[in-house]
Amino acid sequence: MHLALVDQIDALLPQTQCTKCGFDGCRPYAQALADGSTKPNRCPPGGEPGMLLLSQLLKQQPERIDPDCGEPGPFKIAVIDEIHCIGCTLCIVACPVDAIVGANKRMHTVIADACTGCELCLPPCPVDCIEMVVAPTALDWSPERANVARNRYHNRRERLARADTPSETPTVPTSVNKASILEDVMARVKARRAKESVGATQPLNK
Ligand code: SF4
Ligand code: SF4
Ligand code: SF4
Repeated sequence: MHLALVDQIDALLPQTQCTKCGFDGCRPYAQALADGSTKPNRCPPGGEPGMLLLSQLLKQQPERIDPDCGEPGPFKIAVIDEIHCIGCTLCIVACPVDAIVGANKRMHTVIADACTGCELCLPPCPVDCIEMVVAPTALDWSPERANVARNRYHNRRERLARADTPSETPTVPTSVNKASILEDVMARVKARRAKESVGATQPLNK
């Protein structure tokens, strides 16, 4: 594989690390493009401008973004409804750029500056308390933010790789303790719902 070509392709990708292209991040997609094993129209966050640049670099006929990968749209960031967050940490595990902070059983928060809008934290949240909102103009996606996202993605991958060695302690839940986290989560959700339904039927004090 031609590494210089992979770097050139990677430099054109938005670095949201969303996996919508069907690859495990922008760099793996860049590698597949350099191999010639995929097409340059699979990155919705890059939109048509990104597809045109990739097609030009790879000397391929431009094609509209593959709808199977998703539709281009405005840049959004994740916001956690902190009232309803139960601190299960599953979103931290899913976030490819370490843009979520929080501790087990504590409320979690998204670092807006670091969020790429990849949406990967949405499916694992057991209480659906993460919402995507259109980002304020000040946070618009930019080459600088893409560079930050690339670094955060690679730093995270290196940290997780080190965590596989006995000398390092994992900082995220493993598949072994995920089941017990979920059990605990469901108990907490049930308790909260029971409390909310009692509150809803209480008459207001006059
Ligand atoms: S931004 Fe998403 S769809 Fe585009 S290359 Fe990166 S991971 Fe793939
Ligand atoms: S907070 Fe959610 S949307 Fe933002 S980068 Fe992390 S996983 Fe993606
Ligand atoms: S997955 Fe949802 S409930 Fe769990 S910590 Fe993240 S935001 Fe909170």
